[in-house]
Amino acid sequence: MRLAKRVQNLKESPTLAVTAKAKTMKAKGWDIISFGAGEPDCDTPDNIKEEAIRSIEEGFTKYTKVGGIDELKDAIIEKFRRDNGLRYSMDEILVSCGGKHSFFNLCQALVEEGDEVIIPAPYWVSYPAIVRIAGGTPVIVPTNEDGGFRMTPEMFESHITPATKAVIINSPSNPTGAVYSVDELEAIAEVAVRMGVLVVSDEIYEKLCYDGTSHVSIASLSREMKGMSIVLNGVSKAYSMTGWRIGYAAGPKRLIKAMTDIQSQSTSNPTSISQKAAAEAIRGPQDSVLKMREGFKRRRKVVVDGLNSIDGVSCMEPAGAFYVFPNIAGFLSKRYNGTAVNNSVDFANFLLDEAEIAVVPGVAFGAEGHIRISYAVSMEDVEEGIKRMREAVDRLE
Ligand SMILES: *Cc1c(COP(=O)(O)O)cnc(C)c1O
Repeated sequence: MRLAKRVQNLKESPTLAVTAKAKTMKAKGWDIISFGAGEPDCDTPDNIKEEAIRSIEEGFTKYTKVGGIDELKDAIIEKFRRDNGLRYSMDEILVSCGGKHSFFNLCQALVEEGDEVIIPAPYWVSYPAIVRIAGGTPVIVPTNEDGGFRMTPEMFESHITPATKAVIINSPSNPTGAVYSVDELEAIAEVAVRMGVLVVSDEIYEKLCYDGTSHVSIASLSREMKGMSIVLNGVSKAYSMTGWRIGYAAGPKRLIKAMTDIQSQSTSNPTSISQKAAAEAIRGPQDSVLKMREGFKRRRKVVVDGLNSIDGVSCMEPAGAFYVFPNIAGFLSKRYNGTAVNNSVDFANFLLDEAEIAVVPGVAFGAEGHIRISYAVSMEDVEEGIKRMREAVDRLE
């Protein structure tokens, strides 16, 4: 059997691969602490679960409109107005089976052979993969710690070519936690509008901003910018609903219509029950979100201070999300038990074998010399994991 060209270079998402390896080791009796997960550690709030149970009992278990039920779209429209100062109509919203699916639909509707999509690195692993599946070419713009892992307008502009279709802004960012300031977004918006480049704004972590920074949607900066933006969001991270698979997109009618048509010929509607639950999440009480954010904020401090206290590790304190992206370049070219540690994958394997902690190698996000640590784990695990890491790197020679 000869598989299609589009899957020949496709790999399993490396974040899922590390989590899977850690799970296997755990099942075999290893005492693994996993910093690999890309999801909150708390349960979905009760009011949301109860809404789902009610909708099952009431028989809300059939096909719905392909692009999402009106009730959920209304809640999303109201959320954009309330949280982001953005006004959308029903036909400018599409509900999909997760934020990842929203991005997939977008690329299928927008990108074809020869098209370029600008992606600042470190990036969410799915962006380049999904652009490639659509036949497009990811154009990676490297950023570094000195610049706070944020792309400047100059870096953006210098990567634009006649083939550029879109640029991706993910603020707060997975994997770095970086948050763009309003001034930085204004400057990027200016370039996008002047050069006619669509901005894909992935705002899935908007509820997780710390230190008084608040999330601003680039689409809200001006009327022109709104017309040049597609905003991606969802309930996975803010409401700890990763398994429910609800994400959404908001943008120009013509694009949303094309994305909806793709969805109608692939998955059809997202799960009816999940849509009801998501509506409750978005318009119900928001206190669980604040509580979760406070918990993350406490752990962020412990993880950042802990990492910076390890000789050879340096870690920027990020303003959002639940990840840190420490620099571990100082350990590369060292050895343990005769094995060389040459790159971030070797280092992640070293931590798994020698410290029984699971992290994701930076190279998965397009940034060698780093690892991603998710602090969506208990405070005890954060403290124990840092301690193990300190002891393990001491043994590198
Ligand atoms: C988790 C995540 C998403 C969306 O995840 P879904 O579970 O598919 O909704 C989108 N973008 C980034 C950067 C993420 O980390």
